[in-house]
Amino acid sequence: MKVHLVHLYPVEMNIYGDTGNRLVLEQRLRWRGYDVETHLVRAGDKLPNQTDIIIGGGGQDSGQSLIVGDLAKRQAQLQAMAKDGVSMLMICGMYQLFGHYFLTQDGAKLPGIGIFDLVTRASNTRLIGNITATTDFGAIVGYENHSGLTWLGPNQPALGKTLRAQGNNGQDGTEGARQINVFGSYLHGPILSKNPHFADAILGQALARQTGKTIELEPLDDHLEKEAAIRAQKRPR
Ligand code: GLN
Repeated sequence: MKVHLVHLYPVEMNIYGDTGNRLVLEQRLRWRGYDVETHLVRAGDKLPNQTDIIIGGGGQDSGQSLIVGDLAKRQAQLQAMAKDGVSMLMICGMYQLFGHYFLTQDGAKLPGIGIFDLVTRASNTRLIGNITATTDFGAIVGYENHSGLTWLGPNQPALGKTLRAQGNNGQDGTEGARQINVFGSYLHGPILSKNPHFADAILGQALARQTGKTIELEPLDDHLEKEAAIRAQKRPR
C-alpha cells in the first residue's frame, strides 16, 4: 500500500528543521512496510491526484509573503480536502496562513485560507522556548519561536493546552488548532521527532481514510524520541 505525502512550499516555508516532519512520517511508514511517495509542491505546482497527508512548515514573514498568492489559488481545493478528512500538519508560519489572516509588524495583511477560524497579529515580543502542551493524543513537546499572536474563534478547538510557555498568544493557555484531521501548531523541533505518538496519530488517520478501516500501527522502538522529549521538557527554555 502506498501513502502519498505532500510537502507544501518546502523551500520558502522551512525553518527550524520543520522538514524533519516529512522525514519522520516517511521513515515511520517505511519501517512498517508501507510504500511512501513524497511530492514537493512549490508555488505553481499541482497537487498529486492522490494526497493522503499534507505538511507545511514555518517561515519568516518574507517567506509567507512569497507564497500567499499561490496559497489563495489553492483555497477551495484545500478546504474541500480538509472537509474530506485529509490529514494535514501545518507549523507556525503555515499554521498562521491556515487561519483568516496574519497581520505583520509592517501592517501588511497576509490573507490565509480560513481552514481554521483564527487570526494572527504580529506583536513586539517574540515567544521563544521549549513548550509542552496536553492534547487528545497525550502531551507534546516542541520549541516555539514566533512574534505572531494567534486568537482562536469561539468555536475553533485548540490542538492543546500549554503546561508552560506561551503557545498561541501567551494569554489564554491554548496551543495550536484542530479541524477534523487538520492540525496547526507553533511547535518546531521538528514536532514529530520528539512526539512519535502524534506522528502515529496522523499516520493512523491517513491510513484509516485510505482503507476505510481502523489500522493498528505496529509499535516501534521510540526510546530515543521519548528521551529527547524528556530532556527538552527539563530545559529552562
Ligand atoms: N513570521 C511568523 C511569526 O514570527 C512565523 C514564524 C515562524 O514560522 N517560526 O509569527
